[in-house]
Amino acid sequence: MKIGIITIFPEMFFSFMDYGITNRALKKNLLTLKFLNPRNFSSDKRKKIDSKIYGGGSGMLMTIQPIKDAIHQAKIYIGNFSKVIYLSPQGDKLCQSKVMKFLDYSNIIIVCGRYKGIDERLIISEIDEEVSIGDYVISGGELGAMILIDSISRVIPGVIKKKIHI
Ligand code: SAM
Repeated sequence: MKIGIITIFPEMFFSFMDYGITNRALKKNLLTLKFLNPRNFSSDKRKKIDSKIYGGGSGMLMTIQPIKDAIHQAKIYIGNFSKVIYLSPQGDKLCQSKVMKFLDYSNIIIVCGRYKGIDERLIISEIDEEVSIGDYVISGGELGAMILIDSISRVIPGVIKKKIHI
């Protein structure tokens, strides 16, 4: 399985990839992770990736353009028929049966939000599914992405020998 990860903090994943079953899946080439940092796609001259909330409200949202371009680039890298997931407290809660369903896709793109999240217009145009890791709010999607990747890694056929993964 190939997973593209859209994150402004790819470094958070470095030690995660060095350990356990995710590391084993990577070493066996049963899992490939590709990081795309929206900052590198920003058309703003200062590489800004946040903007005021469209229509008003406090706090900042992640700008549409850099994330949209990063998703499109991820599709070029890992495949056009990718399922695009946004980690969100409003999403469907992650459970083992949902993890197993993700095995139907050979390419997944995970968008990690920061600040007050991503613009609703981007959710409508680019996101296939919103996934929550639980009924609480954390400050960014990266920890959620690691939970999702870890749970998928251990059910990819060939990563662990046991037939029962739960
Ligand atoms: N008010 C925002 C909302 O309701 O989406 C909260 C944004 S939160 C501070 C920043 C990012 O953390 C979100 O865009 C999302 O990617 C991630 N996040 C926070 N809680 C999450 C959860 N329970 N499950 C998955 N991702 C979560």
